[in-house]
Amino acid sequence: MALRIYNTLTGSADELVPGGIKKEKIGDYPPVTIYSCGPTVYGYAHIGNFRTFVFNDFLRRYLKFRGFRVDHAMNITDVDDKTIAGAVTESISLKEYTERYTAIFQEDLTALNIEPVEHTPKATESIGAMIEIIDLLVKKGYAYAMEGSLYFPVDRFKSYGRLSRLNSREIKSGLRYDTDEYAKDDVRDFVLWKAPKENEIYWDTPVGKGRPGWHIECSAMIRKIFKTTIDIHTGGVDLIFPHHENEIAQSEAAYGEQFVRHWIHVEHLLVNGSKMSKSLGNFYTLRDLLAKGYSARSIRFLLVSAHYRKQFNFTIDGISQADQALERFDNLLIRLKEIKKEGAPNPHVPNLIDSIFADFTGAVDDDLNISRGMGMVFEFIHAVNTMINDEKLTRMDADSIMLALKKIDAVLGFIFSEGSEKPGIDAAWVESMIAERLAARNSKDYGRADAIRRILLEKGIILEDTREDTRWKIRN
Ligand code: AMP
Ligand code: ZN
Repeated sequence: MALRIYNTLTGSADELVPGGIKKEKIGDYPPVTIYSCGPTVYGYAHIGNFRTFVFNDFLRRYLKFRGFRVDHAMNITDVDDKTIAGAVTESISLKEYTERYTAIFQEDLTALNIEPVEHTPKATESIGAMIEIIDLLVKKGYAYAMEGSLYFPVDRFKSYGRLSRLNSREIKSGLRYDTDEYAKDDVRDFVLWKAPKENEIYWDTPVGKGRPGWHIECSAMIRKIFKTTIDIHTGGVDLIFPHHENEIAQSEAAYGEQFVRHWIHVEHLLVNGSKMSKSLGNFYTLRDLLAKGYSARSIRFLLVSAHYRKQFNFTIDGISQADQALERFDNLLIRLKEIKKEGAPNPHVPNLIDSIFADFTGAVDDDLNISRGMGMVFEFIHAVNTMINDEKLTRMDADSIMLALKKIDAVLGFIFSEGSEKPGIDAAWVESMIAERLAARNSKDYGRADAIRRILLEKGIILEDTREDTRWKIRN
């Protein structure tokens, strides 16, 4: 079965065909070229932003799971009105200001187990590429100057509005046009290069003094990195218009070839029915949630598990439910590790593993339906737990199931929490402490038993007493 993903440009779930030419085998395709609009680094990104960034990560991981190679870029917008204003308020250089928030953003990505991508270009380091495209637009008559700024004349680009399916009347109605405060011929026109304002950073270039408009950054970086048509461009749905519409107009007008084959847009994360956004003030940053004691792993679970084309209502209660779901993984891993039964593998296990791979792939190949995919994973867990209850698994079976879970976790990134793999915790020592605690309890030395529980807790080890025995796990 082929991987099909909804393409905003065509309005249908299109098969992913990297390079645009169909091949017999996935391994024969060139790497999938992907560009994701990155953050503007003027503050902490919020959980809504991270819905989109976690989705980008899930997408690239799933493509790799399916055997594709990926070549992925995500930009850092480190010059725009907001970053400049922030640096001015704090009386520090723009570089100092944006480097601080870029580092914070990278830390948040790591906490959410988001893989590094192949390219993270910064706008301020890509000015040359922007000048190249603007220069081409000027030469081809796709740019006009006004009060020292350069604009793109939208009416000259005939297919403008194709991605967003907005007609010229809707765009001109004034409700939905670019909010740049600059003077221009037509409200739809957008700025390519902004005239310098007093005391603001500017570059002295062949197209004049100034700084880039936001849209040109992405077009220029894509050209600089990938040279030609790319396979996938992602971003939140709020970027379809005008940002992505403008990227298409500039790039296709300048280079005369298709810009992007497959446009993938992530629906909004909502809070009480409204989009989570900085301007509405209804946002949580990752750090807000970590400070409240929630784990990045649970937040990743929550963000990955919701289908990307459905709006997702964020609640604190949802994080607690995610915690419970993750405990099912933790408990299963503990149980699998404990299996000691020797002997031949159970002949049903390979079938069970084959079918979870087939079911998971079948679900996610259908427009990345991870919600259905997660349902399959939980059914698998249930089946494995039943086999453990019935003592039907040997050590070899447990190892093959563990390996299957690792392969699925290469996509999900939350089954094996870092803690459960954490080096430096000596399982034999933990077991001996548990044995000592049991002995202390048996001799009614509850003081010592509690002390042992505390010693383990300090090392991040949580004990769970069941009727039969005591289990332990590592706190996330
Ligand atoms: P920004 O830093 O505002 O340019 O946003 C970075 C990314 O987050 C973009 O792809 C936005 O579309 C996306 N985004 C912003 N708010 C939300 C939200 N509430 N839900 C999902 N994605 C969002
Ligand atoms: Zn962009």
